[in-house]
Amino acid sequence: MKISYGKHSIDKSDIKAVLEALKSPYLTQGPKVLEFEKALASYCGVNYAVVVSNGTTALHLAYLAAGLKKGDEVITTPNTFVATSNMLIALGVKPVFCDIRLDTYNIDESKIEKLITKKTKAIVPVDFAGHPAEIEKIKKIARKLKLLVIEDAAPALGAIHHGRKIGNIADLTTFSFHAVKTITTGEGGAILTNNRKFYEALLLLRSHGITKDKSGFNVMTELGFNYRLTELQAALGFSQLKRIEKFIEKRHQVVGWYEKSFKNQKNIFLPEVLSGNRSAWHIYVIRTKNKKDRMPLYNFLRENGIGVNFHYVPVHSHPYYHKLGFSKVNLPNTIEYKETAITLPLHVELTPKDIKYISQKIEDFFNK
Ligand SMILES: *Cc1c(COP(=O)(O)O)cnc(C)c1O
Repeated sequence: MKISYGKHSIDKSDIKAVLEALKSPYLTQGPKVLEFEKALASYCGVNYAVVVSNGTTALHLAYLAAGLKKGDEVITTPNTFVATSNMLIALGVKPVFCDIRLDTYNIDESKIEKLITKKTKAIVPVDFAGHPAEIEKIKKIARKLKLLVIEDAAPALGAIHHGRKIGNIADLTTFSFHAVKTITTGEGGAILTNNRKFYEALLLLRSHGITKDKSGFNVMTELGFNYRLTELQAALGFSQLKRIEKFIEKRHQVVGWYEKSFKNQKNIFLPEVLSGNRSAWHIYVIRTKNKKDRMPLYNFLRENGIGVNFHYVPVHSHPYYHKLGFSKVNLPNTIEYKETAITLPLHVELTPKDIKYISQKIEDFFNK
């Protein structure tokens, strides 16, 4: 038995779509890119979508479009993939890490306000595991102080918060289409916004800061990048997006199997979904009630062919962030989480038999 923690799903229609794009006159930034952007914006109910080369460049451009610059501060979560704050560091912006909640493992919105200073320009929540952060409450805090909310929703395409799709709430929302996310383009990402100014800035920055002048010549007006997505990737993304509801349904089904099989398992905490939210269920994280059980259980499951994982090493404790002096921050819930969490396999190709095997092994471990 070998069960991986994440796995993409490619079918015949995806392959057909990519082949068609490959035979078309355009290989990059053509009609397929526009088609994918329109479909994404429409799926999320947002005015504008800009697709880019990955979720990290999506963050980079969102931060630039928001006007973040050297010396600014941004409040964000330590329980995320490093890219969220790396792109802040790249701009000379200081990430200020806020502790997390112990139910959804998202940023604890009640602890944000006391971290705000005169230098704070934005709040960057992350939808950990595909579960929306308390984005409406965070927006309220931000509005009072004229801060922007930039949501790193990399794993949360398809998630819903109080009746609204993620992508349609924050000032700017970023997604990733890496192979382990809800839909994939191999590598890929997007930024969604309702703000026309942000949209225009994003288009410019994605392609070298070059635009056409009155005579139709290409002139560069901003320092930009080449963060474009290819037509092949856009065709794949468009094809995948047609199946997103099926993907999410299947992920919910797998979670249902887990919940049923853990009904009598008293040694672990299961992940929670707050009322009014639909999680995209990017990953399924359990926590051992006893810290001492964590590593032995993790190793036992690995020995038994179960691809358990850990998301995430708290950003502030990575050696690089350590060097920058971030390790001194006091984040008790983050540490509690770090010492107890295990990511179990969750993807669209898992079967009831797989989940039975995994939960049986967990039971065996605790009965030893
Ligand atoms: C996946 C992910 C990213 C990075 O996306 P890439 O497409 O791999 O660059 C950033 N933030 C979060 C929260 C992610 O899950």
